[in-house]
Amino acid sequence: MTNKQGVCSTCRAPIEAGATYYRCSVSSCNSGKLKMRFCSIACWERHVPTARHRKAESIEVSGQTER
Ligand SMILES: [Zn+2]
Ligand SMILES: [Zn+2]
Repeated sequence: MTNKQGVCSTCRAPIEAGATYYRCSVSSCNSGKLKMRFCSIACWERHVPTARHRKAESIEVSGQTER
């Protein structure tokens, strides 16, 4: 159980290395220690109102190409 990338920021499901996940396009969600990651679009959609983004997009990330 060492090859996990992290957990989903909404539902805490593990995101394994190499798995496709989703990021938030808002820069504050991608900087600092806590990088937001989501296991699905649905979890990203639940994040947007809690973060009070006016404008946000989801970014699909392939775990194969980006760490
Ligand atoms: Zn999730
Ligand atoms: Zn965000």
